[in-house]
Amino acid sequence: MYNIQNIKVTKAEPSRISSVDFKHLPFGKYFSDHMLVADYADGKWQEPEIIPYGPICFDPSLAAIHYGQSIFEGIKAFRMEDGRAAIFRPQENHLRFNKSAFRMEMPSVPEEIFIGGMKKLLEVDQQWIPKDYDHAMYIRPFLFATDHALGVAPSSTYKFMIICSPVGPYYAAPMKISVEEKFVRAVPGGVGYAKTAGNYAAALHPTVVAKQKGYDQVLWTDAFEHKYVQECGTMNVFFILGDKAITPDLSSGTILEGITRDSVIKVLTDMGKEVEERAISVDELVEAYKVGILTEAFGAGTAATISKIEQLGYKDFVMTFDPANMPMADKIKNILIEIKEGLVEDTRKWMLYID
Ligand SMILES: *Cc1c(COP(=O)(O)O)cnc(C)c1O
Repeated sequence: MYNIQNIKVTKAEPSRISSVDFKHLPFGKYFSDHMLVADYADGKWQEPEIIPYGPICFDPSLAAIHYGQSIFEGIKAFRMEDGRAAIFRPQENHLRFNKSAFRMEMPSVPEEIFIGGMKKLLEVDQQWIPKDYDHAMYIRPFLFATDHALGVAPSSTYKFMIICSPVGPYYAAPMKISVEEKFVRAVPGGVGYAKTAGNYAAALHPTVVAKQKGYDQVLWTDAFEHKYVQECGTMNVFFILGDKAITPDLSSGTILEGITRDSVIKVLTDMGKEVEERAISVDELVEAYKVGILTEAFGAGTAATISKIEQLGYKDFVMTFDPANMPMADKIKNILIEIKEGLVEDTRKWMLYID
């Protein structure tokens, strides 16, 4: 049995870090010097390794490409105020990763590889963790099928990898969102709750159609009636309606269970705000908007934390919101950033220190 602290590390020489401008970090464009790789074969996990970041080579019959057994996670690590580095709620991502793996008939990844390997990789690449406010190391663990064969069957071999990308504050321009009435993201019994590659591929075309109509993204609705709101492409949604915050509940299995979503609910609860997780119809939103009690709408996800919605189009009706007047969205975003940067006490123990 391997000890993750003593895993083999092959150093990248020389480091590429001096070629990266840490003042200008577009999302997911630069990658740190190293990556973690672990193979699953013969019914068990083989020894993980940390090696220089770079291309990997496969046979054209690679199972993941043809039949889509491929899952991922998105996590952020921060350089805290006290100089230490910490990861935001990675245990939650680990649990969700293994839920996705189970649904896609893939092996679960043990904690010592997922969390232990991530900590070790960040330790090796710690110089790459940006220090500035709201800058972070975006961590992308992923797992895919590696059998070389065209028969449709669960693969018998898999590769788990972690790559890291230093990112700046995600410039979250307020979004124009179109309520989707034709295409569907997920159905009960399907894979909507899994962070699996095909969900994103399937969303690309509807998003391009929405862009042609002047929107940035779609707000998915339920598959049967297009009546109840679900989530945006990579974000869960919240509405401030009267003195309550409302977000769709997860019972249908069609919504990705966001860790930012959960964090927003907990922050709101700590603030003494009432949060309702329940079915929300578009009609209810329109009615609330018309009487003036729908005051804020925003998305919640790891990349941008909070993204304000300035336009919500439904059929011919467009609801508009003033991004400069969204006190709840601003407050939640600030609280979450302060926790991640170590500027306030981490009462819920959300940060996992790597050193
Ligand atoms: C990842 C993701 C989210 C947000 O999840 P976080 O854990 O908050 O990053 C929401 N919806 C979809 C479809 C996602 O893939």
